[in-house]
Amino acid sequence: MIINTCTVIEATERKMLRRLKTFADRDLYVTGCMPLVQMDLISTVCAPRIIHPDEIHERAGGVGSPGAGAIGVVQVANGCVGRCSYCITRLARGRLRSAPAEDILDAVRRLVASGAFEIQLTGQDVAAWGIDRGESLPDLLQEISDIPGKFAVRPGMMHPGSVHRILDPLIDAYASPKIFQFLHLPAQSGSDAVLDRMKRRYHAADIVEIVDSFRKRYPDMMISSDFITGFPGETDEEFEQTLDLLRRTAFVKVNITRYSRRPGTPAAALKDLPERIRKDRSRRLLSEANQIYDAYNNRWIGRETAIVATEKNMPGSTVCRNPSYLNVIIKEDLPFGFSGRAVITENRRHYVIGKLLREV
Ligand code: SF4
Repeated sequence: MIINTCTVIEATERKMLRRLKTFADRDLYVTGCMPLVQMDLISTVCAPRIIHPDEIHERAGGVGSPGAGAIGVVQVANGCVGRCSYCITRLARGRLRSAPAEDILDAVRRLVASGAFEIQLTGQDVAAWGIDRGESLPDLLQEISDIPGKFAVRPGMMHPGSVHRILDPLIDAYASPKIFQFLHLPAQSGSDAVLDRMKRRYHAADIVEIVDSFRKRYPDMMISSDFITGFPGETDEEFEQTLDLLRRTAFVKVNITRYSRRPGTPAAALKDLPERIRKDRSRRLLSEANQIYDAYNNRWIGRETAIVATEKNMPGSTVCRNPSYLNVIIKEDLPFGFSGRAVITENRRHYVIGKLLREV
């Protein structure tokens, strides 16, 4: 049995340890981030053999792998250029190592030839791709867009500091119909003081500038984000600044994480806020985010849009994406890669319902 582990927050770590304990008597192999930084903890519940994540890529011979449905996943880089004070991933994955452009282009070609329609580019910070090679993401996106075939790229998480460096060419790269108008921009906080304590290397004004610049060019652009609530020392006023940033940017799809101390990180030395405060702030942020999702989805109701079938969730219905990466459920069985036009009829908050008009 192979268990792929994650240790990004304390709750995940606990879940992983429970799983490892459950299967401790099996012929167990463990990979992912946990053995890289918490071998001592793993040893308390089991004695597995370890597979280093890099070894998987070396043996698999490439950076691409098929995902669910018509999705292909390409890991463009490992590690990052950040020093975020709360982050254990940095300790596990280390400094940025970008995959060569040719390997990425090959992976995309192979996945498209084998029927993938949605190509997800992943990494801890996709916008940092190429910094260690003297290359940059907008050029890579341009080269991927030049690959013939029917597909679209969903760029993965991008650190706002890295996006800011390449803002104008990145916005230009998104003009290609082969790039979903989707940006995952983890803000983490709307307070400059908290961002400084997190060592995030940007301020709230930079986030606003990025969001406004993208939306000016692509008004329907879907921009999602991540926030940490209750970072050590976060005051009521600093949390209010986070709420303000969320309202100002109208991020669609927000991952909210209650701060949890990670061993070995600089922030672990700081005093935690009470759990009650962290929980309450998450709840308030989520309620604000839900209103924003509804407003964004409602804007689409009655509009006609292009759609492509990428995943199945249940018989008689198909998960499709529009050019803004809107999750459109069509209540028909459509083959993967099917493309057509649909009208959006209902908002269901985390997705919308569409009625198929015709195949294109
Ligand atoms: S950019 Fe920051 S949060 Fe992201 S992996 Fe690097 S150190 Fe961690």
